[in-house]
Amino acid sequence: MSGYNPTSITILGATGSIGQSTLDVIGRHPERFSVFALTAHQKIDRLAELCIRYHPVYAVVATAAQADVLRVQLQTAAVTTEVLFGEQALCDVAQDSETDAVMAAIVGAAGLRPTLAAAKAGKTIYLANKETLVVAGALFMQTVQQYGARLLPVDSEHNAIFQALPDNYQGNLEHAGVASLVLTASGGPFLHTALADFAAITPEAAIRHPNWQMGRKISVDSASMMNKGLELIEAHWLFNAAAEQLEVIIHPQSVIHSMVRYRDGSVLAQMGKPDMRIPIAHCLGLPDRIDSGVEQLDFTSLSGLHFLAPDFVRFPCLKLAYDVLHSNNPASSCVLNAANEVAVAAFLDRNIQFVDIASVVDNCLQYFSGQTASSIEELLQLDTRVRSVASAWIAGRSAG
Ligand code: NDP
Repeated sequence: MSGYNPTSITILGATGSIGQSTLDVIGRHPERFSVFALTAHQKIDRLAELCIRYHPVYAVVATAAQADVLRVQLQTAAVTTEVLFGEQALCDVAQDSETDAVMAAIVGAAGLRPTLAAAKAGKTIYLANKETLVVAGALFMQTVQQYGARLLPVDSEHNAIFQALPDNYQGNLEHAGVASLVLTASGGPFLHTALADFAAITPEAAIRHPNWQMGRKISVDSASMMNKGLELIEAHWLFNAAAEQLEVIIHPQSVIHSMVRYRDGSVLAQMGKPDMRIPIAHCLGLPDRIDSGVEQLDFTSLSGLHFLAPDFVRFPCLKLAYDVLHSNNPASSCVLNAANEVAVAAFLDRNIQFVDIASVVDNCLQYFSGQTASSIEELLQLDTRVRSVASAWIAGRSAG
């Protein structure tokens, strides 16, 4: 590596699960990477600790009051990081000429604008924030292409597919000899829970994922299998895959992270421990393979590799996402995402039951059926309207 300038990285969502895993990988390779900017939303003390450790040029928080608090903490520690706040500041650090690459790891549609800013600035984007593609897949992919950005999938399933596709994959599965892309799903904590017991599922149980350590929202999405639904839409945009070219298979051990079926009957799988530092290290290191800090897989310790078909009765959110994918209307996936974000937050706040998440999403999809949106502004307006309809539905439900 000597003679190379380190890659200067902005981490959007540095205080989250993906942010922490990214910093863990970066910390193992100080000669390769430097930290340009770190962002947070609520965990200001945690961001202060990260600034003290990594000395970014910028730190970004949500509000002026938070920025004041962070500035005092950094001054006390004699750290010279400049503190900014607000959504525009997130975009500014993502598109700054001094940053080479951006880890997009904000949770939810809140990640869209800054990730888009990185794309417009032609950056290398390590994409964890799947909601960017669910909300605005067509426009985001166009922007990536138009401005010559480099998009690398961090989500473990998409990273696995990316690794199993030919190196020179140009966006045409047929030409690459691919029959289908197979996304594996753990099935989450309720794979074997009796349906009658779903009404009693608590937030604590829902965020206790059997295999992965993740943020709260994606953990609930995994439990409802909405996560796999969002990933279907993500795969559709990333790999130019039609709904018919996408399969979901439940694989409770989470050892195979996804697969590519080729026309000749070959199936290529990517395997490893369920630890996000593996796909993160893959993206950060490209074209090299770098140490991720994750132990090697010990095949003799595996109890077996099992597979089963997904059950739409148990996991209606997955069915809703499939329907949205088949509808071929980008506005519908924006509706799906916004309704789901509101429903998951309400479930975590104990305002609705776990089973209501699918009802909120279904109601919103019906209410907004036939909607179209052709620009980012229109999509964001739609997102806002969906959130208010979903919130009203939840308020009515709670009152009833
Ligand atoms: P976390 O909840 O752990 O972290 C989210 C990060 O986003 C935090 O830094 C949080 O700040 C910040 N944030 C939250 N809301 C806002 C907002 N409105 N504006 C700006 N920043 C905000 O999430 P994860 O790390 O689990 O997930 C991040 C993304 O990566 C999601 O899109 C998820 O789907 C995707 N992903 C995650 C995986 C995982 O294993 N965790 C796997 C694959 C994909 P603060 O902490 O200060 O509140």
